[in-house]
Amino acid sequence: MPYIIGLTGGIGSGKSTIAEMFQQLGVPLIDADIVARQVVEKGSPLLDKIAAKFGKTILTEQGELNRAALRQRIFHSDQDKQWLNNLLHPAIRQEMLAQFEQIQAPYVLWVVPLLIENRLTDFCDRVLVIDVLPEIQLERAVQRDQSNADTIKNIIASQVERPTRLAYADDVIENNLPLIQNSEHLRQQVQQLHQRYQQLAQQKEH
Ligand code: ATP
Repeated sequence: MPYIIGLTGGIGSGKSTIAEMFQQLGVPLIDADIVARQVVEKGSPLLDKIAAKFGKTILTEQGELNRAALRQRIFHSDQDKQWLNNLLHPAIRQEMLAQFEQIQAPYVLWVVPLLIENRLTDFCDRVLVIDVLPEIQLERAVQRDQSNADTIKNIIASQVERPTRLAYADDVIENNLPLIQNSEHLRQQVQQLHQRYQQLAQQKEH
């Protein structure tokens, strides 16, 4: 099992941006959102179970999961939400562990937007938080998603509060300054953390 760095942060905090900087140094990434999609891809046993429970309207015409329809469904029923979580979480966990096992590198960056919310910190050897001021977060997320401010505010409100997230952090990268001004500094921080993580991974092996 590689050394596992959990990378987290709120919506639009810059997780993907920073993860890419690690990737450019050759660090393998596992994206929890992608794994969550893989376990319910077309033809998977889990998708069949979901369709059996909620009906064919939960599928798109192409037979894929209609996420908007599913969201609607569980939004209106805590029981359904619970049922879905009980189905998905063990499968995601299993797939996650299988993917960790495949990693050959000393450490892996596990990108998990809801690391704290879903109580996944126990899987991590270390937690790296991307921190950003709420007003900057809102502005960037609105712009990226072409979404309105209220929608983003609701998502921010549904996520753990900034001080709580920071309390779990072993390392923090602050991402308030614009990239044009700060990307070199961010790269330096990533490089330093990369060296530290390689050392920590090596220490753990012995
Ligand atoms: P999510 O979890 O919502 O997918 P994220 O945490 O992965 O978001 P990114 O996608 O990396 O965040 O960043 C959000 C948006 O803000 C993107 O459009 C990105 O290009 C931009 N962005 C990130 N960091 C900066 C920065 N320092 N300056 C300017 N724009 C930035």
